[in-house]
Amino acid sequence: MIAVIGCGASGMLAAISAARMGARVTVIEHNDKPGRKLLATGNGKCNLTNDDQSEDNFRGSDRNAIRAILAAFTKDEELRFFEEIGIPVRAKKGYYYPRSEQASSVVDALTAEMERLRIRVLLGCDVTAVTATESGGYTVSYKTTNGDAKLSAERVVFACGGPAGDRLGQSDFGFRMLRKIGIPVSPYMPALVPLTLDCGNLKEIAGVRMPAEITLSCGSDSYRESGEIVWTEYGISGIPVMQLSRFAASALREKTEVIITVDCAPEYSREELTDELTRRTGGLFVNRDAMSAFAGIIPGKLLKFTLARAGIPERAKSSDVTKKQCAALADVWKALTLPVTGTRPFANAQVTCGGIPLSAIDHATCEAIGHPGLYITGELLDMDGNCGGYNLQWAFATGVIAGRAAGKA
Ligand SMILES: Cc1cc2nc3c(=O)[nH]c(=O)nc-3n(C[C@H](O)[C@H](O)[C@H](O)COP(=O)(O)OP(=O)(O)OC[C@H]3O[C@@H](n4cnc5c(N)ncnc54)[C@H](O)[C@@H]3O)c2cc1C
Repeated sequence: MIAVIGCGASGMLAAISAARMGARVTVIEHNDKPGRKLLATGNGKCNLTNDDQSEDNFRGSDRNAIRAILAAFTKDEELRFFEEIGIPVRAKKGYYYPRSEQASSVVDALTAEMERLRIRVLLGCDVTAVTATESGGYTVSYKTTNGDAKLSAERVVFACGGPAGDRLGQSDFGFRMLRKIGIPVSPYMPALVPLTLDCGNLKEIAGVRMPAEITLSCGSDSYRESGEIVWTEYGISGIPVMQLSRFAASALREKTEVIITVDCAPEYSREELTDELTRRTGGLFVNRDAMSAFAGIIPGKLLKFTLARAGIPERAKSSDVTKKQCAALADVWKALTLPVTGTRPFANAQVTCGGIPLSAIDHATCEAIGHPGLYITGELLDMDGNCGGYNLQWAFATGVIAGRAAGKA
């Protein structure tokens, strides 16, 4: 019998793949429903994978291992699998979603396939320990509403995810338990997560959304992204920020200084902006104040915030603003530079960065080296993908690889 811990993305694929090999499978899940995190993915639409398979989208400390694992169950195989179980997919700008655009239809189809394969699913059962037996198998201990229970399994798949996500069943149980069993665990941090900033008056701009180009400097390394950012009371969010957050998390852990620089008007050069702002100190704008004369290029709340940084009083007459002050304002808009103090907690993160190093598993099977019959999948492993379907693709690929190997063994 194979025990799968966790009925999430990788656990369901592992269970299905093992059962299709003819194995008897029991999945143990502490939520009262399967796939709760899956239901929350892609804002409820479930971004399954992506046409852009470039390596930069899959981050982790062992690129060769990541490549080998993804080659063993490719994006096209994933899409064929979903079509086969009744989930036609549709690409939007290269991002794949179920045609229904409902994550619930993905969970329903996976659940139906598990039922068809007679996979036993124990819901509301919290796994508390996994111990190796002398006969070469494992004992899985878990809590149910009726008390403590145990089951014996020849093989165990750890598919219980990481601590990222809010009230979706996330926990660091997998890392704690695997460390206890003797498997190395690298430091793990929240990723795809907003950043907190050291800046006194962020409340003034909280809620402002705007297109921007951001540069994250972590010591001597820098990373760039562009897209819509969102200012918040604690710092900064939005997809470009989330994409770079894993670098900030790692650098801050190493006590390296992290700075974010926001180009609030990427379409303009510094000189173009200075000229445009200077133009607005005369002509049509002559009787306006600075807040009014310089409006329209960036959101009003941010204009107010940046005027102060450039030393221009918001009620100053536009004709009193000097060319030097216009250049100073252009400088602030082109490079609004703020120290990053941290990331938001795991509850606000979509994934976990770090975890079980890929050197601790056999890449062809996801079996833990030195621990026969113990497989590790999904977010527990040291790979965190960009936004865009890469994390689910990884969870599905590692689930299938582990499930097939466990089922075959
Ligand atoms: C809000 C949000 C949106 C996201 N959107 C996307 C997206 O659109 N595309 C994408 O690619 N990725 C997305 N992700 C990331 C993606 O959901 C995860 O990478 C993926 O679900 C990880 O799969 P997993 O199987 O490793 O873990 P999970 O899917 O988290 O499954 C682990 C399961 O184990 C259970 N479990 C944990 N501990 C125990 C225990 N002790 N006993 C029993 N059961 C246990 C949990 O309840 C859970 O059901 C999103 C994440 C979040 C939080």
